[in-house]
Amino acid sequence: MVAGALVCAGYPLLPDGGLTPVVVYNGFGVLAFAAVVAGIRRHRPAAARGWWVFAAGLISYVCADVVYEVSGLVLGEHPSPYWDDLIYFSAYPVLLAGLLMISRGRGRREPAGLIDAAIIAAGAGLVFWVLVIQPTLGEQGIPLVQRLVKAGYPTFDVLLCAVVTRLISRPGPRVAGRWLLAFGCALNFTGDVVWSLTDRDDSYSDTLTHSCFILAYAMWAGAALHPSMARIGHRAATVPRFRRGRLLLLGGVTMTAPAVLFLQGARGEVINWPAIGVGAVLLFLLVLTRLAGFVGQTQRQAAELEELAMRDDLTGLANRRRFELRLRAAVAAGSPQVCLLDLNGFKRVNDRHGHAVGDHLLVAVAARLSSELPGEGLLARMGGDEFALLLADASAAEGDAVIDRLAGALRRPFAVDGHELLVSAAIGVADGADPVEVLRRADVAMYAAKTSQARFRRYAVELDDRADEEARLGAELRSALDAGQFHLVYQPIVALPDGRIRYVEALVRWGRRSPAAFIPVAERNGLIVELGEWILRAACDQFVAWQAGYGDRAPERISVNVSARQLAEPGFAGVVADALARAGMDPSSLIVEVTETAVFGGGVAVAAVEELHRMGVRIALDDFGTGHSSLGLLQTVPVDVLKVDKSFVDNLALAGRHAVIATALIQVSDGLGLTAVAEGVETAEQAALLHDLGYRFAQGYHFGRPVSQPAFDGVEVPAR
Ligand code: C2E
Ligand code: MG
Ligand code: MG
Repeated sequence: MVAGALVCAGYPLLPDGGLTPVVVYNGFGVLAFAAVVAGIRRHRPAAARGWWVFAAGLISYVCADVVYEVSGLVLGEHPSPYWDDLIYFSAYPVLLAGLLMISRGRGRREPAGLIDAAIIAAGAGLVFWVLVIQPTLGEQGIPLVQRLVKAGYPTFDVLLCAVVTRLISRPGPRVAGRWLLAFGCALNFTGDVVWSLTDRDDSYSDTLTHSCFILAYAMWAGAALHPSMARIGHRAATVPRFRRGRLLLLGGVTMTAPAVLFLQGARGEVINWPAIGVGAVLLFLLVLTRLAGFVGQTQRQAAELEELAMRDDLTGLANRRRFELRLRAAVAAGSPQVCLLDLNGFKRVNDRHGHAVGDHLLVAVAARLSSELPGEGLLARMGGDEFALLLADASAAEGDAVIDRLAGALRRPFAVDGHELLVSAAIGVADGADPVEVLRRADVAMYAAKTSQARFRRYAVELDDRADEEARLGAELRSALDAGQFHLVYQPIVALPDGRIRYVEALVRWGRRSPAAFIPVAERNGLIVELGEWILRAACDQFVAWQAGYGDRAPERISVNVSARQLAEPGFAGVVADALARAGMDPSSLIVEVTETAVFGGGVAVAAVEELHRMGVRIALDDFGTGHSSLGLLQTVPVDVLKVDKSFVDNLALAGRHAVIATALIQVSDGLGLTAVAEGVETAEQAALLHDLGYRFAQGYHFGRPVSQPAFDGVEVPAR
């Protein structure tokens, strides 16, 4: 390209006439051809065929130039028509076809762009026809063939115009190669126009045209050699937008008819009514077609957008918005059945296997639920792990039957990313005459199903009462915590057989209410996190106070219950560390009691337990033996203490096989080097039996009830 510019600058200095300018100009044409061939070979563009056609057109064009120049030099004039015209006329279509093929590449058909190009061609065609072609055709005293040949060139220019428009406006990567190609065409066009508008034997215009052509060659060569040429015509990544520039261009082109009319009128020429009329109508029709396409595209996009806005991205099911719309319509038309379905244990899957597996599980659940619903109802994902089903026209019995089938389907394990995952769902179903109310009822029923472990629950008014009760209790808990109405009691954990207090377990109290009544509520509404932190700090402070007050007689350790929700809270280990540090307590003096179910799922809960264990805190498995996979847990969770559940102690004194489990558990515990604590020891007989079995730690009413101040020195202070 630089060479092209230099040659252009130097070109006027060359001696006028003679062989040198001819050789320089055409030599450049040959070089451009060679560059195009080299470019194709080096960059191997997808549209290679188009480039080869273009190269063929280019070399034919150069041949025509050579014939033209040489014939001029040899014959002393340019005969017209002559052989060069024939070659030009065959070179132009090839060149244009090549350019079109390149610009199209492997992209999809794009009718809008074709119409745009046609509009440009029509506009340019009108101008050329009125100002150049028709006057040429009408020239007097020149043979018809000669006039036809002369008019042929501007016709090609009009087509060239359309091709340049295509090149520039086609959606796809706007790379340097594409611009160079288009600029080359524009220069070629300019050269042609200058050539046809001026006197051909005038050396000034000759220099100007040739400079244009040389620069065009340079641009084309540059386009072919630029690596980006391989990407011209690649598919556009996005739907092309109708930009303002294009609108202006197309609008401007439609003005050509009045502009030509004005020009002819101003020049006092005879106005070419038929041509201007045909041109104006043609332009009008083309623009109309374009607009119709544009409106169609906009409507299509609007429909697509609406579809997207109503669909859940992950599962492809309807989303909450569509569900609510359809529910509203269904409620207006009759009494639909609505079912809400919340996966149990989904969070665990997410924590344990990562979000990708969680997402794939949701997709699999959606697919299975859909396959169980042949044509019945609308299934939607309402968000997270919650799905909803709308049965627009079903009786309660039919609804129950469908839901029973769904619940059954969900019980089969899911194979996801190489994992066998077991999920179940809490399902609530309801009907009613108001869309908001139906959803609320289904939600209440689902919530009840969650706490009752039932396969599914149908809404009933009592459920509302229960939910109200729970909400009220939740609110009371909140204010009780703010008002400092909780306190701790401590139950001794003693050594066997002498009953000496070794540890204490901290148990929370709220007035006279049992923790069994309010802890589950606090777990569900999340308050346990804050309450648990308070319990932990209070227990640590009390422990340190005892150590200061009782010295050797103080308990060696204090045991604090921690619920699953607390373990799942990020940064829980940090909270424990802070409580220990503030109280000035050694981590090994603290025992954290977790239940088997809390750590069963692994994930964050186990990670928290591991972190605590690394800090030196002791870990106890509470109510051991009542959860699932008790023994398996001992391999995955770092445990120091097994709290053998009361149910195994209760049965000890009964004859027969009842001592078998208590015996097995002490053996496991001893084998693994753990401390076993027998819970709920109520009689001396149980205590003696446990001691015989090998138990060295026990807890229960027989040794002491939970009280505010246990009798470390023999004097028990009763609970407040
Ligand atoms: P747990 O951790 O297994 O606590 C032992 C429960 O058994 C206590 O009931 C205790 O009073 C009771 N118990 C002790 N010895 C005997 C006995 O000889 N016979 C009988 N029948 N019962 C005995 P409590 O205090 O009502 O606590 C119930 C459950 O509430 C606890 O079971 C624990 O899971 C939970 N909980 C209590 N305090 C807290 C707390 O501070 N935080 C958390 N997260 N949960 C707590
Ligand atoms: Mg406990
Ligand atoms: Mg227990």
